[in-house]
Amino acid sequence: MMLIGYDRESMKLRHFRMCTIVYYSSSMYIRRMKPTPPFILQYWTSSCSFFTCTLLRLRPYSATATATATADFSPSPSLLIDEFTRFCYQRDLPRAMKAMKSMQKHQLWADSITYSELIKCCLAHHAIHHGRLIHKHLFSHGHRPATFLINILLNMYVKFNLLDDAQALFDQMPHRNVVSWTTLISAYANTNAMLHHDKALQFLILMLRDGVRPNMFTYSSVLRASHGLPNLQQLHSSIIKTGLDSDVFVRSALIDIYSKWGELHNSLRVFDEMVTADLVVWNSIIGGFAQNTDGDEALNLFKRMKHAGFWADQGTLTSVLRACTGLALLELGRQIHVHVLKFNQDLILNNALLDMYCKCGSLEDANSVFSRMVETDVVSWSTMIMGLAQNGFSRKALQLFESMKASGTKPNYITILGVLFACSHAGLVEDGQFYFQSMNKCFGIYPGREHYGCMVDLLGRAGKLDEAVKLIHEMECEPDTVTWRALLGACRVHRNTDLAIYAAKRILNLEPNDAGTYILLSNIYANSQRWEDVAEVRRAMRGRGVGKEPGCSWIEVDKQIHAFILGDKSHPQIGVIRMELDQFIWRLKELGYVPDTNFVLQDLEGEQKEDSLSYHSEKLAIVFGMMSLSREKTIRIRKNLRICGDCHVFAKLLAKMEHRNIVIRDPIRYHHFRNGICSCGDYW
Ligand SMILES: [Zn+2]
Ligand SMILES: [Zn+2]
Repeated sequence: MMLIGYDRESMKLRHFRMCTIVYYSSSMYIRRMKPTPPFILQYWTSSCSFFTCTLLRLRPYSATATATATADFSPSPSLLIDEFTRFCYQRDLPRAMKAMKSMQKHQLWADSITYSELIKCCLAHHAIHHGRLIHKHLFSHGHRPATFLINILLNMYVKFNLLDDAQALFDQMPHRNVVSWTTLISAYANTNAMLHHDKALQFLILMLRDGVRPNMFTYSSVLRASHGLPNLQQLHSSIIKTGLDSDVFVRSALIDIYSKWGELHNSLRVFDEMVTADLVVWNSIIGGFAQNTDGDEALNLFKRMKHAGFWADQGTLTSVLRACTGLALLELGRQIHVHVLKFNQDLILNNALLDMYCKCGSLEDANSVFSRMVETDVVSWSTMIMGLAQNGFSRKALQLFESMKASGTKPNYITILGVLFACSHAGLVEDGQFYFQSMNKCFGIYPGREHYGCMVDLLGRAGKLDEAVKLIHEMECEPDTVTWRALLGACRVHRNTDLAIYAAKRILNLEPNDAGTYILLSNIYANSQRWEDVAEVRRAMRGRGVGKEPGCSWIEVDKQIHAFILGDKSHPQIGVIRMELDQFIWRLKELGYVPDTNFVLQDLEGEQKEDSLSYHSEKLAIVFGMMSLSREKTIRIRKNLRICGDCHVFAKLLAKMEHRNIVIRDPIRYHHFRNGICSCGDYW
């Protein structure tokens, strides 16, 4: 996705620190009524309102100084300027503009800082027209404003999103300093257009040719405009040449961008080259790994960071929670929660906490966090609604959606997805259709692929396969494998062979190496005794070198992750676990459990007899959980593949027989087994 929340946060923090230094040094000059040296003003950057604010708060000291300086020809000009200055500081835009008009008539100009205050006022009121008048006034009668002030005008056009005007002004500038170049470069880099990104890069080259040395802000902006690794590496070497590679700010930007391109090795290299780290850089590197779903490394780095004596801030904790979410590490997530309490007002962090509890299948914890949140936004509501829906609490999800609407929060793409998911799981066909059909009219959200996927699932579950197919053909976007898989799943349950073959072929067109679909297709043919077709599928698989991904289940016990893979006997306690599992199966059989070998067909060669079915990875993980966790603890398992029907029955019966709660999270949904039933309602 994007470089979100905490990256911006850490940049802001760094920038804030920088500005504080600039502020204190400039305040010293201004209070002494001396002109602020250009090297300090250079740090004034377009994005920083803090600095202008603080600088201008000091303004009364220097305002009088300039006013007296211009007072030599007649008393009225100085009065005019004084009046103008006063209106500017009072943020009285109409009167300041009127005073400016009189000044222009008398060919008078105030000092740069006063104009910068006025421009700020224009920005706050989005007064583009007034902004242009100020521009005109500053260049009237051959007057030439200082570069500092032109830079502020430049920034004004950028903030108004008038890049052409900014460019025209920039082209006219007789002298451009690092701030002028950086303002324009970051303006181009901040847009989403590829064309503008190219411009940002071209301007960096022109800047270097012009002999202006880029600063950390220039590089952190231009890095965002890089496209692809070669381009990024060129920029990296240019940074090294200018000696800015030791700057923490630039380094942190480099780490962010390498991570964004999925180049984690390079991120780590840039990180490890640092002599002294800084919390911002730690956050960048941990965030990089957490966002690229390498939770293990993110957690390793987090440990290293603590070891190096750094205290986690909101940014760190958000990333660490994300890593826990990816790995379904509920216990570690709970420990992080304790640290989160220090920042209990932080919305982004609280949302990450909610997401962690939802994705780890602990809805009680998620609910309690959500109910205690002082501030909530659409992300918090959507996370909760989606969490409830995916965990099988459809009614609660829909109730929460009603509360959300009542609270005045506008739903977004994800919220509606959660609502449709809930409808689909609760079999609420009519409600689902209503929300789907009205989502654009009521909330201004166009249905995307995921919404269609949910609707196909909803109709499929209800057995309305023809309607599901009709909907797929009505899709404005090209249906993806998720949509076809939803149809395939429905065909499997409702035993519609022809349609299942059709859906499977569509999936294989899009993903020719999808082992699961080949196996399913082969099974469908085998079920209808079409042996020639079975052979054909096998040939296709062999031809493509498609192998079956082995089933793997993970469980966290005492902060350790234990992995169980089908057929793998490397777990130190595997012997005891298998013996215990055999005992359970034997006792369950006495209660009427019949291993469902229908699912053995999932295996292409059919060699997976009842025996190997017994040792499916989730069964081993469940039994290991029973042996290691106290009775009141929920057994939580994460799985790489969809749970098979036999393991599903096994988990339901075992949960009842042993009075245990078992939660299994597969790539798509959650199964909460409690007292002989599953939250998915036996449809997945
Ligand atoms: Zn199984
Ligand atoms: Zn289930």
